[in-house]
Parts: sequence; C-alpha cells; structure tokens
Amino acid sequence: MFNWGIRTRLITSYLLVVAVVLTLLGSYILWYFHRHTVDSLSANLLTQAEVISDLLTDKLDDSLEPPLLDATVKELSQRVNLRVTVVDTSGRVLADSWENPAAMENHGQRPEIMTALTTGYGSATRYSATLNENMLYVAIPIRHGGAVIGALRVSNTLSYVEEGFSQIRTVLLIALFLTSLLALAISIGLARTYTSPLEKIIATAQEIADGRLDSRVHVRTGDEIELLAGTLNTLASNLEDKVSEITAEKSKLELIFRHTNSALMLLTRHGLVVDVNKAAIDTFHITPVMLGQHNLQVIGNGLFDKALQEAATRRESRLLDLKTDIQGVKRVFEVFIAPISGGETGTGSILAVFHDITALRDMQEKQADFVANASHELATPLTAIKGFAETLLDGALKDPGLSTRFITIIHDEADRMHRLIKDLLQLAKLDSQDYRHGITVEPTLIEPVVATAVNDLAATWTQKQLTVAIHAADEPLAVQANADWLKQVVLNLLDNAIKYTPAGGYIAISWRKDRNQAIFTVEDSGIGIPAEDLPRIFDRFYRVDRARTRAAGGTGLGLAIVKFIIETFGGKIEAKNNSRGGTTMQFQLPLAAR
Ligand code: ADP
Repeated sequence: MFNWGIRTRLITSYLLVVAVVLTLLGSYILWYFHRHTVDSLSANLLTQAEVISDLLTDKLDDSLEPPLLDATVKELSQRVNLRVTVVDTSGRVLADSWENPAAMENHGQRPEIMTALTTGYGSATRYSATLNENMLYVAIPIRHGGAVIGALRVSNTLSYVEEGFSQIRTVLLIALFLTSLLALAISIGLARTYTSPLEKIIATAQEIADGRLDSRVHVRTGDEIELLAGTLNTLASNLEDKVSEITAEKSKLELIFRHTNSALMLLTRHGLVVDVNKAAIDTFHITPVMLGQHNLQVIGNGLFDKALQEAATRRESRLLDLKTDIQGVKRVFEVFIAPISGGETGTGSILAVFHDITALRDMQEKQADFVANASHELATPLTAIKGFAETLLDGALKDPGLSTRFITIIHDEADRMHRLIKDLLQLAKLDSQDYRHGITVEPTLIEPVVATAVNDLAATWTQKQLTVAIHAADEPLAVQANADWLKQVVLNLLDNAIKYTPAGGYIAISWRKDRNQAIFTVEDSGIGIPAEDLPRIFDRFYRVDRARTRAAGGTGLGLAIVKFIIETFGGKIEAKNNSRGGTTMQFQLPLAAR
C-alpha cells in the first residue's frame, strides 16, 4: 500500500509539473503571439491609416463631403486591400470602402472612433456580424487646417491571426500530450528505481518483524536508501544479538528455576499459581490441575496469601517464616516473596522461593532442648551437693555417721556430674567435624575390642553376679572403624546391659558376618524397655524412668553417643525387647575390605 502510494505520488507529481509548466509556457506563448501579432497589425494599420489620411486630405478641400470622397475611399481601399471608413465628428459615415455609407448607422459610439476623436488614436477588436469574423479597427482623426473634421478608420480581419493562433495551440497541445507521455514513462521508471529497493527493505523488515532475525537486505543505490538498508541490517543484527542474549539468560533462569532444590512458585499479582518447579511439585504435591488456581487452594496458608498481597500492592519483597502442615507432616519454610516488575502497567507477577528450614528449626529446637537438659542434669547433682555440704556445715559434720553418709552422697553426685561432663565433652567432640575428620578409620578386629571392654567392666558385672557370654563369629571379623570408638560403643552397650540387668542375670555379646556387614548384638535378661520408649532411647538425655536410671548412674547420653559413632562409620543401630524380657541392642557396621 505504502509502495503504491509512493509510486502514485511520484508519477502524479511528475505529470503535474510537466502539465503545469507546459500549460503556463503554452499560454504565455499564445498570449505573446496574439499580442505581438495584434500590436504589429495595429501599427501597420496605423501607418496605412496615416498614409490614407494624407492622401485624402490632399484630395479634399475644406470639408469632408466632396462627392468624390466615397469613390476615393473605395479606390484607395482596393489598393491597400483594407476596409476604410470615414466619419465626420458626429459619427455619421461619409464613406466606406465595402458598404454604402448612407445605409450605415451612426458610428459616433464606436469605441475606436470615440477615442480617436478625443485622444488622436483609437483601436478596438470586435466581432463583425456583417463579416462573421473578428476584426481589428484602428482610427485616427482627420485634420484640416488644424481642426479635426472627422475620423478615418482602417480595419482588417483577424482571421489570419486566429488561424496562426489555433495552429500554434494545436502544436502546443500535441507537445503537451507527448511530453506528458514521456514524463509518465520517465516517472514510472524512476518510481520503479526508488520503490524496488524500498520493496526489498519492506519485505526484509516484515521478515524481521515475523521473527526471522537473520534476514538481511542488500541494496546498492549509493544514496539514503542504501543507508536505510544498512541501518536496518545493523538493527536486525543488534536485535539478534540481544535476543540471543536474552534467550540464553532466560534458559539459564529457566534451568535454575527448574532444577533448584528450593521450591519456586510464580504467581500472578492476584495470587493465582502460574508456574512451579519440580521441587515445588514435590514439596506441595502439586498436580497439573492446580496450576491456575489460587494459592489458598494450593498451599492453603492465609499468612502466605496476605504477604503475597502486600508484596503486590507495595511492590516490595517480603521474607516470612511459614509453618505449615503438608499431608500431616509439619514443615517450616523461610519464604522469600519478590514482585517481578511488569512495567508501568503493574501487571507483573510474583516469585515465591521456599527454603525448607524444617531440619534447621528442628536442630535449633534440639539444641535449645539440649542446653536446657544439660543444665537441668547438671543442676540436679549440684543442688544435692550444695544441700548436703550446707547440712554438713550447719552441724551434721559433728555426727560421724551422718557425715560419712552425706559425704558419700556428695561424692556420688560429684561422680555423676563428672560422668555427665565426660559424656557431654565426648558428644561435643563427636559433633565437631574437625575432630571427626582427624580420627583414623581403619580395619579393626572386633574380638580384641570386645575382650578389652568386657575385661574393663569385669569388676562391675562380677560384682552383680552376672554371666557375660561372648559368641564370636566363626572367623575373625574386621570392621571399617576406629578401635577406640568401637570400644566406646561396646562399653556403653555393655554398661547399660549391666546397669539394667538385675543381679544373677545374663548378658550375651555376639557378632556374625552378614554379606559385607558385621552384625553385632548385646543381649541381656534385664528389665527391658517399654515398647513406646523404644523409638526415643537414642535421643540425648532420654531415659525411660528418670528416677530409676539416675539411681543406676545413667546420664541419658550413652546411647546417643553410640548411635552417633555407629552412624559415623556408616552403620545403623536398633533396640528391641527379647524373649527373655530383657533388651537386645543390635548394630551393623560395614566389614573392612580384605
Ligand atoms: P543412661 O546413661 O541413662 O543409661 P543411655 O543413653 O545409655 O542413658 O540409655 C538411655 C535409656 O535407655 C536408659 O535411661 C534406659 O532407661 C534405657 N536403656 C538403655 N539400655 C538399656 C538396657 N540394656 N535395658 C533396659 N533399658 C535400657
């Protein structure tokens, strides 16, 4: 359309210019020709009139009415081949070369006669009804003895002039037509020269607009159009670079969005879920039908929705801790909500990033619990020590029996504190990554470790008259562990078995090979553990019956240390009740490669 417009405009302009110029020129030529011819004809007629006037005045006496006048005029007229008329000052026709003067009307009102009589020269162009053609009249006054006695009018037909005029006009019209044709041809050619590169540019621009950014236009016109084509090419190549940059950036973001471990959610400013990543699908159990639904239907948390609305209206990011219940499991998230600007219209969406901090919060809670428990555990013996020490100071010291009892209690409590602190220190050591990395893990034979541990505690179990049986595997087994730590495990388990088995009971320590694992069991015929406590006995400070276990000297940390060590070596441990009514502690450790 635009292309057609330029072509039409070019052609029309050309034709218009040619037509206007030629018409003006032609008109001027015609006007000049006409004026020039009429002027020279008038001058000619004037000369003729003056000659005739002289001739007539020679032949006339005083008046204009000699009988010969008409005849003389007719004769002279034949010689000059012009129409000659003579009138007196009143306008009466006295002689006429072509007509009978008597039959002619008064000429006093003829403009050329009137001006000739008053100014000395008159001329007019008029259509003659008598002759059926345009005539040129020139009149001068006839003087006799200094006075004007009449007027002489000489006239000639203008038909020759008009013939010439019409011939020139025809020639000019033909010239105008031919020139217009030529102008049309030239303008079409020119328009094509200009529009064809423009057509190419338009086609390429259209291709670029359609997304084919590698399209380029090649135009060699050496003018502004070539410059325009070059600019378009540069524009396209810049656009291509930018688009590929943006695409790369987008796919990078897409990759991050899809594969990050944090759950990501893209929402509209009205809270509808638009897009989610895999982590979000897994975390919130999102099904495809949920996309497009409101976040309250998907996550079902009013706090989150409120924060979302605030972020959308205030256009600023928000950070909130979100406690939620996903299919019965309590989860804690740190949620970062950020509005993504969408220009002035404010149609931007909102990104929500969910960091699962359930484990962190759990750990923090456990740590707080741990500190509270540790303080409590330390406070109990300390209170006892302080109390008994004060009682002693208050006078009980004087009673040897009481003093011995109280000091024994103080000693036992101090001993317990010592054990507690030892266990706490050991746990702290185990918790330290540096320490864990520092110890050597190597093939460790089980038998010597068990033998030393049983031996170390011999005094205790023999005192309680317990039987400790060792059932070694058929072949010597070595686990991938550290001998000191393994001994600590066996000591703790054996110590518990001794503590919670009444006098005269039975303890069996056995180990065997099961594929690439060593299965280790400490079994006792003791008091056992209530089933509901079994899952928690490996927790720090957890004791089944506080009073009783405290009496037995327990800290509630032994099994926690055991579990920690076993898991550090890549094994696992479980506690169960056995058929003897006692407890069976069983753990497995990977066997050392031979
Ligand atoms: P403690 O130092 O109090 O023994 P542990 O962590 O070693 O602490 O054990 C935690 C709790 O598990 C004990 O308080 C006790 O109630 C129970 N327990 C552990 N071993 C046995 C066992 N062999 N028989 C009965 N109860 C046990």
